[in-house]
Amino acid sequence: MNHIKKEGYTLKITDVKTHVLRCKIREPFGFSQGWYDTRAAMIFEIFTDQGIRGWGECWGPPEVASAIVNTVFKPLLIDEDPFDVDKIWEKLYNHTKAFGQKGMTVVAISGVDIALWDIMGKTLSLPIHKLLGGSFRNMVQAYATGLYFKKVKNPIAVLAEEAQEYVQQGFHAIKMKIGLSPEEDLERVRTVRKAIGDDVLLMVDANHAYNVHTAIKLGRELEEQKIFWFEEPVSPEDVRGYAEVTRSLNIPIAGGEAEFTRFGFRELLIHRSVDIIQPDLCITGGISEGKKIAILANTFGIPCIPHAWGTGIALAAALHFIASIPDCPSSANPIPPLLEMDQTSNPLRELLIKNKIKQKDGFVRVPTNPGLGVEVDEEVIKKYSV
Ligand code: CA
Repeated sequence: MNHIKKEGYTLKITDVKTHVLRCKIREPFGFSQGWYDTRAAMIFEIFTDQGIRGWGECWGPPEVASAIVNTVFKPLLIDEDPFDVDKIWEKLYNHTKAFGQKGMTVVAISGVDIALWDIMGKTLSLPIHKLLGGSFRNMVQAYATGLYFKKVKNPIAVLAEEAQEYVQQGFHAIKMKIGLSPEEDLERVRTVRKAIGDDVLLMVDANHAYNVHTAIKLGRELEEQKIFWFEEPVSPEDVRGYAEVTRSLNIPIAGGEAEFTRFGFRELLIHRSVDIIQPDLCITGGISEGKKIAILANTFGIPCIPHAWGTGIALAAALHFIASIPDCPSSANPIPPLLEMDQTSNPLRELLIKNKIKQKDGFVRVPTNPGLGVEVDEEVIKKYSV
């Protein structure tokens, strides 16, 4: 451990660099809130005086997160010790609390926090899950996120083919988009269920397209389709509306990817708004906050199955985090803490990490190399930097 010297312990942050990455994609795809024709990412590097460097990632418009980090957070980070991760989190959050309890300031904290955990792991030569209290599992079941809306001649036939491809690739769990209209959603879900058979887990995601009434009406029709969870049926601010949907349906309701910090999740939990919470580490406050949210959920008996999106950095962070979450409840046949694996077109996800996280037979191995365990390809950063 080269940071412990004769004159005592020292490790200090010396610099923070942000990378705004963006690229066009081959085939645009849609969901209930719009269409994607480009993919973007905001990648962090945090440097220390001992030569150890950490990588982080956060979500949302990358230029905005980058501006927050460079103008507000960077001066607060220089000379701090990355191991003081909770202290740093509180410092950044309290500094911006008056105007940033939710939204892009917390998103920016998320990326910083992930990079600090990468540094801690690399400094101690331990994978992050070891620092989180250990791994409950060496393999994590993955699910394919795809089946978005497409501008094609025969969308239903294309949908069935895509679903079957995921099964052929080894996935035993698939999440599809809904939120076009209840009628179209039902046709799409029935098509996919028929294409994959009854044994594959199927989740549906409305990206908060509906009000309570429509969500319940649609949900009752979906009950026959053996849905593993119904994600974001209603708007994320509608904590009580969520609870009504959750009470009314025989399908577990999931949500939380658009929620921030333990304070936001406290409301979802108090009102028992969801059956499964889905914090995204790159949105909700990083690994530090994710761990607190998962423990809070556990005290309410609610499983935490994080949302994951972005490049291999975000995926690796989610994987260490999932490894460290106990089953809720503990059982011979627990609810599987699944890893979300986006299957849509994204060169940044495909190329940024040299040792790409891959599924085999629907499972992903938890990384055992130090920190996040990712090898970032800096040529890819150069190529896609804006
Ligand atoms: Ca979602």
